[in-house]
Amino acid sequence: MSVPISLEHVTHAYRTKAGPLPVLDDLSMDMPEGSFTAVVGPSGCGKSTLTRLIAGLMKPDQGIVRLGGQPVTGPRKTVGMAFQNPVLLEWRSILENVMLPLEIVGGASRTQRQDRARELLALVGLDGFEDKRPSELSGGMRQRASLCRSIVHRPEVLILDEPFGALDAFTREDLWQTMDDLRRIERFTCVLITHDLRESVFLSDRTVVFSARPARAQRVVEIDLGDHRTLEDLYAPKAVALLADLRREIQIAQGREVAPAAPKQAEAS
Ligand code: ADP
Ligand code: MG
Repeated sequence: MSVPISLEHVTHAYRTKAGPLPVLDDLSMDMPEGSFTAVVGPSGCGKSTLTRLIAGLMKPDQGIVRLGGQPVTGPRKTVGMAFQNPVLLEWRSILENVMLPLEIVGGASRTQRQDRARELLALVGLDGFEDKRPSELSGGMRQRASLCRSIVHRPEVLILDEPFGALDAFTREDLWQTMDDLRRIERFTCVLITHDLRESVFLSDRTVVFSARPARAQRVVEIDLGDHRTLEDLYAPKAVALLADLRREIQIAQGREVAPAAPKQAEAS
């Protein structure tokens, strides 16, 4: 199950001692159900703020956020979240950590909760580690467990705020593959915040480039590379052109001078 996410003219400012800090400026976005949207943009532009608004942890000053057409008025059980630092509870085993959202949502028996958690841990290659404590796992394995926990209750919406940012490059690429597999099996509408353009091209259906603060959706780039992408696909001319396009757009967002785009024939040769 998944639902569409929409933002309609969302504007928000934080109140700080120095006065209001405008963070989002008339932001409108549409994310179809089951889609995977990546958001990239300059540091501090308002990306995490966007995730808090979608999760219902905060209300915007103006505008509406909708999940499945319904205005978001507070936190929902049907949203899953994962962050850069997987906050796993050290006094619980990996299995018990993954089961936690099911305990909070309620409705399933202990056996059902265990079966569901085991199923997901097996999907991400953590079978055999169910009884370990978080500190006994590597960073990449902890992030895998954290991903399982974020989707164990079958959320309609999954929000990922730089979940792979702290991992080394090879581990990160393994996790992309895992994420892609999970997405096909579990079906949620996903929003991924990242500063890694290759990650956004590998995983997303579309990548939205945010301007510097206050963030607007400066550009939406459709990542039409088909399903079941491989790492090799990132070196194909089409992906390379998308990466170059995104890189340019980020430089514009950062207010840097940008050389004119390469002529279109160059992509085909
Ligand atoms: P990003 O995730 O794109 O780096 P954030 O959405 O976290 O950016 O923050 C956007 C801006 O708002 C930053 O300048 C940040 O310092 C500021 N900010 C974030 N949260 C708060 C808050 N609770 N109160 C005041 N300012 C905040
Ligand atoms: Mg952030």
